[in-house]
Amino acid sequence: MRLGIYGGTFDPVHAGHVRMLKAVTDSCGLDRTLVLPDRIPPHKEARYLTPGEDRAQMCRIAFRDCKNTEICDWELRQEGKSYSVLTLRHFHELYPLDRLFFIMGSDMLKSFHHWYRFEEILQLSGLICVSRSREDSRDIVDCANALRELGGEVIIARTEPLELSSTEIRERLTEGRDCKGLLDPEVTEYIKSHGLYGTVSQ
Ligand code: ATP
Ligand code: MG
Repeated sequence: MRLGIYGGTFDPVHAGHVRMLKAVTDSCGLDRTLVLPDRIPPHKEARYLTPGEDRAQMCRIAFRDCKNTEICDWELRQEGKSYSVLTLRHFHELYPLDRLFFIMGSDMLKSFHHWYRFEEILQLSGLICVSRSREDSRDIVDCANALRELGGEVIIARTEPLELSSTEIRERLTEGRDCKGLLDPEVTEYIKSHGLYGTVSQ
């Protein structure tokens, strides 16, 4: 089995996340994917995070039509920072016969060589990278080649980039601007009914 591991903060999950997972599932022949909202992202500045249960619930809604995809709260249940190597060690032990693929956007691939125990990550799993902007394709190829020289398997998924981030969504929501086409309508509903991101609870 080819098992995709898709980690992130998903605060909130948006159309870019869903589109990239659908594209990767097809083009990389993944049999199953686990989406893992993180508890404390190691690489992000400390800022207020929406409770993990809400982020996971929004993922359950947004990824409901993605085939063979499950939302997994394993990282949310761990202590301390959510280092990807710990997650990959866990799933490697749990599913020793599966080939793991860690799925990420290009911003993550570019900083990958700074990640905690990144060389071990390359031994535990392949990487699947999706471009987040038209400008970064050269950089991605360079990063991928450098990691291949270290023995890693890096797949660059050929998809049309969707330039969108949760940061932009949070700003829009706080300013009361429309997120049509950027968020799943049922996620928007969840956000509003729970009064998340400065929206007023209805
Ligand atoms: P933030 O602005 O809060 O960092 P984000 O949009 O980058 O949010 P994350 O939860 O940080 O979302 O990202 C989770 C994973 O999804 C990362 O690997 C990231 O690179 C990837 N990703 C996020 N947005 C996109 C997008 N528009 N296209 C492709 N990959 C994306
Ligand atoms: Mg991000």
